[in-house]
Amino acid sequence: AERNPGQPEFLQAVSEVIESLWPFIVKHARYSEQGLLDRLIEPERMIVFRIAWVDDRGEVRVNRGYRVQYNSAIGPYKGGTRFHPSVNISILKFLAFEQTFKNALTTLPMGGGKGGADFDPKGKSPGEVMRFCQAYAAELFRHVGADTDVPAGDIGVGGREVGYMVGMVKKLTNRSDCVFTGKGLSIGGSLLRPEATGYGLIYFTEEMLNHVGRSLKGLRVAVSGSGNVAQFAIDKAMSLGARVVTVSDSSGTVIDEAGFTPEKLAILAEIKNRFYGRVNEYAEKIGAQFLAGEKPWNVPVDVALPCATQNELNDHDAVTLVKNGVSCVAEGANMPCTAGAIERFHAAKVLFAPGKASNAGGVSTSGLEMSQQAMRFSWSSAEVDMRLHEIMRAIHCSCIEYGKKNNGMVNYVDGANIAGFVKVAEAMLVQGVI
Ligand code: NDP
Repeated sequence: AERNPGQPEFLQAVSEVIESLWPFIVKHARYSEQGLLDRLIEPERMIVFRIAWVDDRGEVRVNRGYRVQYNSAIGPYKGGTRFHPSVNISILKFLAFEQTFKNALTTLPMGGGKGGADFDPKGKSPGEVMRFCQAYAAELFRHVGADTDVPAGDIGVGGREVGYMVGMVKKLTNRSDCVFTGKGLSIGGSLLRPEATGYGLIYFTEEMLNHVGRSLKGLRVAVSGSGNVAQFAIDKAMSLGARVVTVSDSSGTVIDEAGFTPEKLAILAEIKNRFYGRVNEYAEKIGAQFLAGEKPWNVPVDVALPCATQNELNDHDAVTLVKNGVSCVAEGANMPCTAGAIERFHAAKVLFAPGKASNAGGVSTSGLEMSQQAMRFSWSSAEVDMRLHEIMRAIHCSCIEYGKKNNGMVNYVDGANIAGFVKVAEAMLVQGVI
């Protein structure tokens, strides 16, 4: 804590992971060698820079940009770029630390990183957003590269922003290799990237259920959120025969006992993606119940998939879900379940998948985007889907290998942390103290 004053998010993430790893490390002395843990909790490099740009009124604006190059033991640094006023070094270090383990789990050669700026895209004109992205990229370009560091989008950074940054990096370097992922198809993006996180979540959930002799077919599922991850999770869950009975946004929850159909999902997607509407409009359109200000966790279901935002499922919600008979919970969002909620699920022997494992389909497909661009060739959707499915299965196997307890239950939190750690640690050890 003395080394990282004023960094509560980073300290929390490190202590949670180390706590879960500790019994394993104590048993395997090899992982205490070479100052491994001390090195692992220190980012390899942090770049902090000025971003000066001119707004629509001709005034000069100054923001602070960052890139945390956390760990490159198994491959180039890889992680998203966030433009949000809350961005600071603690949040980016925490995200980059977590990303290092998540990327290791994907089986692809990607290290961990994260970057961004304290820029608020809300209320900015399209021209201002473009100029800001260009100014950010005009400094970033000297620190990134297809074999060095490959950023992607995150909060406030979508395909449009990635496109502007790719354009500027290309102009400055005179090269067109893969410096960003999350690109549009016209500039080297991958098919199935939009679907990847939601589909991957369902592949992982199905693996967890199969492992205990069950499947999603016929199960009742609650999904929260109605954005990218939620929509494609609903899509795939439906196609595996599950009945998805809820969807939500920050205004409230829709309960539809009849369950989603492809037609209803198309209506939801149009309202959310095209008109930036609210889920109550969706409820009205399909004649379902809308509960203003409520979360979906009151509805009796077999499977809960939080796909909206951090800390959206707390202790109290977990108690309600357990009381109503939930038997499987998989995180689509990043950190949607509080630590207290996870404890409740474990205590009730509910299958619980942490986002690090269950939402890794997105970054995995970004890894596949890097491969395709390096080959100067693109795979069909079916090919990408097959690889995504294989990766999610492999992540599940790693969780079983490292998370199986003496009573036969699998602790996926420990499994994911240990499996990710072992990959990074082994790579660090063979490279010596650097
Ligand atoms: P979107 O912005 O597309 O969707 C987010 C959804 O969550 C929206 O429906 C939003 O509702 C809802 N939401 C936001 N805040 C709240 C709240 N306080 N209460 C209820 N609902 C809320 O984001 P994504 O689907 O891309 O991402 C969702 C989560 O998944 C995030 O945690 C993200 O970090 C994580 N993730 C995403 C990946 C990806 O590939 N997209 C990869 C890995 C993780 P509203 O419309 O009202 O804002």
